[in-house]
Amino acid sequence: MSDSIPVLIVGAGPVGLTAALALRQAGVDVRVVDAWTRVDRRMRASTFHPPTLDMIESLGLVKKLIARGLLVPRFQMRHHETGDQVTFDLQAISDATSHPYRLQIEQHRYCELALRALSNLGVEVKFNVVVDAIEQHSDGARAIIKGGGGLTADWIIGADGANSAVRRSLGLQYGGKTYTHSSVLVSTTFPFHEVIDDLTDVSYCWSERGPFSLLRLKDFWRASLYPGVEDLNAAADESRVRDWLAYIHPKARGAEILNRYPYRVHERCVETFRSGRVFLAGDAAHLNPPSGGMGMNGGIHDAMNLCDKLLQVLGGADESLLDRYDRQRRTLASQRIIPQASANRERMATMDRRVQLERLARHKAIAADADENREFLLRSSMITVLREAQDIE
Ligand SMILES: Cc1cc2nc3c(=O)[nH]c(=O)nc-3n(C[C@H](O)[C@H](O)[C@H](O)COP(=O)(O)OP(=O)(O)OC[C@H]3O[C@@H](n4cnc5c(N)ncnc54)[C@H](O)[C@@H]3O)c2cc1C
Repeated sequence: MSDSIPVLIVGAGPVGLTAALALRQAGVDVRVVDAWTRVDRRMRASTFHPPTLDMIESLGLVKKLIARGLLVPRFQMRHHETGDQVTFDLQAISDATSHPYRLQIEQHRYCELALRALSNLGVEVKFNVVVDAIEQHSDGARAIIKGGGGLTADWIIGADGANSAVRRSLGLQYGGKTYTHSSVLVSTTFPFHEVIDDLTDVSYCWSERGPFSLLRLKDFWRASLYPGVEDLNAAADESRVRDWLAYIHPKARGAEILNRYPYRVHERCVETFRSGRVFLAGDAAHLNPPSGGMGMNGGIHDAMNLCDKLLQVLGGADESLLDRYDRQRRTLASQRIIPQASANRERMATMDRRVQLERLARHKAIAADADENREFLLRSSMITVLREAQDIE
């Protein structure tokens, strides 16, 4: 098409920006548009897994990201009331990754770094641009912009999040379920590491009140709480949150709370990641419970997988290669990532002390066995799922 740009990316979240950078660094002329006024700075993902850091290194961002975040080589599962715990150390898989640790940092900091890198390469993300619909042609696709006009591209990547207008416009089913109970993310400056013995910087906790997790970032802690109520406002109610914090540690009741963010948990996967000249990636394509931190990470893995193939096709490879993106990433999202995240959630959900302690004992046995420990770490850090993708033709 005469006025066509090679690639249009809808959405400047971590997934869209990763795709933009991967393509631009390879010399492709990309455009990025986003509905918001700027990068979304709300608290969402805060864990970068080892293979994601390996990918970000290939984009030239990893040193800057590490400098701003907190490196966490060890994480644990613990039983809150007894203090009993098992600790896993990612150093055990240092032969499988250049980054044998989790990096704890807010996802918007990654987005801001990616934005700057794009700007240095001459790509200015256009904010305040809402894509309303997509029209497909045999040799391209057009994004219809709210308020008038449109952008035509040879290829469009819909990285526009859970409510993706791109996905809806393509008429694709987003099958799955939404959990009834709301969850709440609480950021606080309370120093849990100073008052809870042997606490690692990432901890998944069983308690008789319900599961919770504690994740430390550079300047604060993030607690994920599951208050067992449906209503979002009720879940984030301040006195309810303070009761929970006090249950984690009595001194935390009066803690400085930076934000309380209620959200719903979903398990969904779109029926295809490719429709003609349009792709879906990240939350636009799949959603999973946040337990284990696989949402944003999986989305970044989508972006890297897709761009690798798109670059080959732009370089002359057969377009059928792009269907492999769908086969690899959709298969693994639906058959591995979503079930694994759901299993992580279920594992912590029991309120029965006997079952909690049995599960803890089982994980102690895993940590004590070199082979099982390795298998567990490769799987929980998403290395296994990436290896499995390579086996899908
Ligand atoms: C509370 C919470 C906690 C989470 N914790 C974790 C975690 O610990 N680890 C983890 O890996 N993941 C976590 N996630 C998931 C993670 O935040 C998402 O998977 C990630 O943000 C997905 O990135 P994305 O780029 O696909 O979508 P988004 O980050 O949602 O970005 C989509 C972008 O598209 C733009 N957009 C939307 N519609 C349009 C439109 N019509 N036109 C133009 N632009 C549009 C939006 O403005 C937005 O900037 C969490 C999510 C939530 C809600």
